[in-house]
This record gives sequence, structure tokens and C-alpha cells, in this order.
Amino acid sequence: MSQQQSQSSGAALPPPVLEMQDVTKTYMVKRGIFSPKQPLRAVNGVTLTVRKGEVLGLVGESGCGKSTLAKMLLGLETPTAGEILIDGIPAHLGDRIAISRRIQPIFQDPYSSLNPRKTIGSIISLPLRVHKVGDPSSWRKSVEEILDIVGLPRRVYESYPNQLSGGQRQRVAIARALIMRPEVVICDEPTSALDVSVQSQILNLLMDLREELGLTYVLISHNLAVVEHIATKVAVMYLGRIVEETGTENLFERSRHPYTRALLDSVLTPEPGLGVPDSNLGIAFPNPISPPSGCTFHPRCVKAMAQCSQIVPRPLTDELGHVECHLYDPETRDNTAAA
Ligand code: SF4
Repeated sequence: MSQQQSQSSGAALPPPVLEMQDVTKTYMVKRGIFSPKQPLRAVNGVTLTVRKGEVLGLVGESGCGKSTLAKMLLGLETPTAGEILIDGIPAHLGDRIAISRRIQPIFQDPYSSLNPRKTIGSIISLPLRVHKVGDPSSWRKSVEEILDIVGLPRRVYESYPNQLSGGQRQRVAIARALIMRPEVVICDEPTSALDVSVQSQILNLLMDLREELGLTYVLISHNLAVVEHIATKVAVMYLGRIVEETGTENLFERSRHPYTRALLDSVLTPEPGLGVPDSNLGIAFPNPISPPSGCTFHPRCVKAMAQCSQIVPRPLTDELGHVECHLYDPETRDNTAAA
């Protein structure tokens, strides 16, 4: 049952494990050697809730802010404004070590994220050793258990990363993320560096692990086919804002925001797996240091109206989810332009 269905049927929703409340991250950057620093708002007032057991797909083009958001969730960056709550507790008040035990990442590239000079046993047990969980005699047993769970033979304990295939290395990265038994896993493009033939194996493994271990995922991906496969809801990001958020089925069958529609159209090409090409979005992604006025998507939007370059669309929430676009706002919509 989708979250929207649960709400309408009155069924209790699972508790939130991650809440982002008006989260903003601004960097001061230089455009040239002699130019003064200017603000770059990588994430701009994001409000999102992820409930236990959900898989939130976070999609958008490179530079939209999704990786910065992930870094803030992992505690690797601090929000400039707004608040992140983990199990209802503000992240900045929580114990950093306790948070890192609850939330673990799986990165895109299993080739560069594993130390080539360490054995698989040493790589997977590293979080246990860093956080002083158990003692040396229990570490091997814990690693062997997690190798079983991710479908790797125990004999790889003494192997090195270069002795494994790409798919096996990503399983090692997943085992390392799960060895602390986290609640939430942030998956940053978990299959994009893998051969197409092993991508579905890793996605299926992630789904099985979610079921078996009760995990919650935040899945960052530019590949909408991957998101459709495993996400329960999707947030679409554009220039640091969540411009649409809804259940996965809604997004793929009844998307509303013109940017979401453009992303979906880009997937309907003869070459799946290529991600999101820019070509169907007209002009290139704007410079986030000087974003367009009004709706920041207006220079690329096929539905743009006169007011779009002047007025910032306000967040709208209804039974389908969240959308930021004048087409759906009775106060600012131009009735001559149909959605
Ligand atoms: Fe397009 Fe206007 Fe909607 Fe922005 S507000 S997405 S420019 S129609």
C-alpha cells in the first residue's frame, strides 16, 4: 500500500527516520582567480520525510544538489540553515558516532571506494574496529555472517579487491555498510559503475536486504529506470529545490512538474542506462551561482508562462504529494495555458 493510500485509508504510517526541515547549504565560491567569492546555494530549503522501510529515490541532473543533500544526511556536511532530524532528534544535537552507526553509505564506484592494499576481511571489519564494536575475536565471525548475507563466499575474507569482479566488489561495499547494522543506507548511484549484466543483481540484493533487515534507503540516481525498480517514492530535484515529490507509481504514470516530464521523456529513448541526457531539455543546466529569476526552470520549460520568470512558485501539497509549479497553483496559474 502506498503512503498516499495509507493516509487516505487511515492506516498508521511508519515512523519517520529522517526528516529534513527547510534544509539549505550555501557555499562561497569564486568564478575566477580575481573575482570575489559569491554564494552558491547547492541545496535551497529542502523539506522531506523518509519513513521506516521506505525507499526514497532522489533524482535530478548532475549539479542539482542531490549529492550535497546526501553528504548532509551522512553528517559529512553541516546545513547552513534548517534542520535534519534522525529518529526525531536534531542531528546537530546527536552523538556523531551514534549517527554514523545508524546511517551508512554505499558509494557509486566499488573500484575506488575499497582500499586495494587491504584484505576484504579488513575492509569490512573497519567500521567495527573504528567504533570499537566487539573485540578482535568477534570481528571475523561478524564479517563471515555479513558475507553470507550479501551472497559472497567466506573464502573472500583473505582476498584483495583486485581479485574480485565489479559485482563482488559492490557486494563488499554493501557488506561494509551493513556490518554496523544501520537503520538507513544512503545509496549514491549504487550500480552506475557496474556492467549492465550485474546491475540488476545488485538492485535485487538491495531489495532483499531491505526486506530481511528492515532497512530504509535513500537512493540517489540519475537513472530513472533504477529508481522505478526499487523506490517507493521519488523526489525530483532541480537547482537545489525539490520541485516534485510523490509515490513512484504516480511519478511514472501521472507526473505533474514539466521538469519531471522532461526527465521521463529522456528515459524513453532506445538507449536505457544512459541516464538523463540534456538534449530534450533544450538549453544547458543553468549556472547555480546566478540562477534564473522566478521559477528557476523557466528558461528550459516548454510550459513557461509570462509569470514564470517573475514569480517563484510556492510549494503546494495535496493528496498526490508535493509540486512547485504555477500550472497547479490556482492563485498564479494562467488559465490560458493548460497543463
Ligand atoms: Fe514551467 Fe512555469 Fe511551472 Fe516553472 S512554474 S515549471 S516555468 S510552468
